Amino acid sequence: MPLDEYRRKRDFTKTPEPEPKVGKKRGKALFFCVQKHLASHLHYDLRLEHNGVLLSWAVPKGPSLDPKTKRLAMHVEDHPIEYGDFEGVIPEGYGAGIVMLWDRGTWTPSVDDVDAALKKGDLKFTLEGYKLKGSWVLVRTSGRYAGRSGSSTGSDGRSWLLIKHRDDWSGDLDIAEFAPRSVKSGGDFEDILAEDTPALWTSNRPSKSGDSGAMFAAIIERAARLKADREAKAVNSTSPTAHKTRARASAKAVRKRAAR
Ligand code: MN
Repeated sequence: MPLDEYRRKRDFTKTPEPEPKVGKKRGKALFFCVQKHLASHLHYDLRLEHNGVLLSWAVPKGPSLDPKTKRLAMHVEDHPIEYGDFEGVIPEGYGAGIVMLWDRGTWTPSVDDVDAALKKGDLKFTLEGYKLKGSWVLVRTSGRYAGRSGSSTGSDGRSWLLIKHRDDWSGDLDIAEFAPRSVKSGGDFEDILAEDTPALWTSNRPSKSGDSGAMFAAIIERAARLKADREAKAVNSTSPTAHKTRARASAKAVRKRAAR
């Protein structure tokens, strides 16, 4: 049954995530999204609409626009179509953390038979999102990324690579860094948390003690730290004052050297 694994992993009395229903086609074009998911590890979930569900890959480092940078993409369970609009807080259980809708749009497979491409382990497609555009490929690996259990030859078949093809939309811009926020709310993780938390905490409050409580405290802290790091970086790289300071410092160094 479609979405069985999705259903099995979740308790729908406890999670705000959509029910495991196979959806109707959303429109003429096929939907895609990338959800930035701050759970036990930060990762990006790439989802492509296919036959009423969203094919899904978890990309730990997120998509790269640089064709030389191949990003590990773990094939995970299909998600319901409705999931493509989801942004919010998963208070406990599987995937507990914060989900941000980082990009969305439409995708076009480069072949007619997507199932055959998946089976073959080579799916070429184009994306038309806000952040991700142009030509991409997902390739299943059987090499060094496969078989985390330690087996050198075996692959669980879940390891793929997400690679950008060279085109007008490729380049060395770090898109995750450049455009970190939600395309749905415009918010960052802590904004989603602040928005979501009052209602969620009161109706569906996880135990403050225990694992999920502790993990959540850690996630909130990490959300705040991610933001602080980014702001610090932005100040260092773009602040006119920072430039002036650096310029003054180097001018001083040049004068010093000249004086010797
Ligand atoms: Mn995820």
